[in-house]
Amino acid sequence: MRDRELPDEQGYFGPWGGKFVPETLMSALAELERAYAEACADASFWQEFDSLCHHYIGRPTPLYFARRLSERIGGAQIILKREDLAHTGAHKINNALGQGLLARRMGKRRIVAETGAGQHGVATATVCALLEMECIVYMGVEDIHRQQMNVFRMKLLGAEVRPVSSGSRTLKDAINEAIRDWVTNVRTTHYLLGSVVGPHPYPMMVRDFQSIIGREAREQMLATYQRLPDYIVACVGGGSNAMGIFYPFLNDHGVKLIGVEAYHSASLTVGEPGVLHGTRSYLLQDKHGQVSSTHSIAPGLDYPGVGPEHSYLKDSGRAEYVAVTDDQALEGFQMLCETEGIIPALEPSHAIYYAALLAKGLPREKVIVMNLSGRGDKDLEIVAGAMGVR
Ligand SMILES: *Cc1c(COP(=O)(O)O)cnc(C)c1O
Repeated sequence: MRDRELPDEQGYFGPWGGKFVPETLMSALAELERAYAEACADASFWQEFDSLCHHYIGRPTPLYFARRLSERIGGAQIILKREDLAHTGAHKINNALGQGLLARRMGKRRIVAETGAGQHGVATATVCALLEMECIVYMGVEDIHRQQMNVFRMKLLGAEVRPVSSGSRTLKDAINEAIRDWVTNVRTTHYLLGSVVGPHPYPMMVRDFQSIIGREAREQMLATYQRLPDYIVACVGGGSNAMGIFYPFLNDHGVKLIGVEAYHSASLTVGEPGVLHGTRSYLLQDKHGQVSSTHSIAPGLDYPGVGPEHSYLKDSGRAEYVAVTDDQALEGFQMLCETEGIIPALEPSHAIYYAALLAKGLPREKVIVMNLSGRGDKDLEIVAGAMGVR
């Protein structure tokens, strides 16, 4: 992670990324950039990160051969990277921990965060409890109604959840409020952003923290199978779990990288270049440049933008992006439950569906690694509703 080539000094991945923010935010971003550069050069920072990844999060997460799933499909072999087994049940904790440690190093004991469905809010509240920090999570009123259990979880963990009733009262409005709070209280406060989006240095920093997923997967493949996979498949909302598993394989050109979006929030598959939340990337917008409203059965994929590095990987052809519908994701969800006894989150269920489709058309000696970004406990109500179960 410390021998990166991109982004450049200004935070660009080719034409993507950058810092499209008001003047008032520039000094806060510059301070963050400096602090992160210093942390990157400090071995003790990474030692503490690695140690808590191991003892607190439970890393390394296993690389698990899904034998029955692969047999049922009858094509390529599918191996799962088990981020669902990380503490709090998803990959988001990796980034929350990294930024929490960075904030402490910067002397900031007040954390603000945005959350959509609540997963990033829960991860942030968890790390704030661990590191003894004040935690304020902005959440759209609509999302608060839909995700009461996660609101309760955050409160149990000591966070304050602040309702946001502007705009569409969902994730993108919560991000705006979190940024506003950060600008106002920047001396004491760190903004703990939850994916590889936003202005530089966030896309780089979040990628670096999440790339522990890909580094482990690469080592585990070599140690267990003495080879690298032919494909890596991961779901893409903002793009952090995908970027995390892709990044350490970028120079392994025999490994094909595939990102799976939700059909009605497929920024990379059908979006156009635009600026949202301080970064230039592919974006879902109408012909007047207004950001579109999105929908996905998977709360974590419901974001109209995507991390700028994915836009770069798409343009360069290094990664490929596809879209999967709600019904197909539910099919992926059930397939994994039945064959492996693993209840996946709805976000990676999109990747499961696509990995199965891909596997079916490939010979048996090919290997697909699928990033199982989270477990499904949080989604049972949604799945029951979709299945007509009361
Ligand atoms: C939030 C979330 C996602 C989507 O976010 P990315 O930044 O694209 O990884 C995917 N899977 C799970 C389990 C999530 O909680």
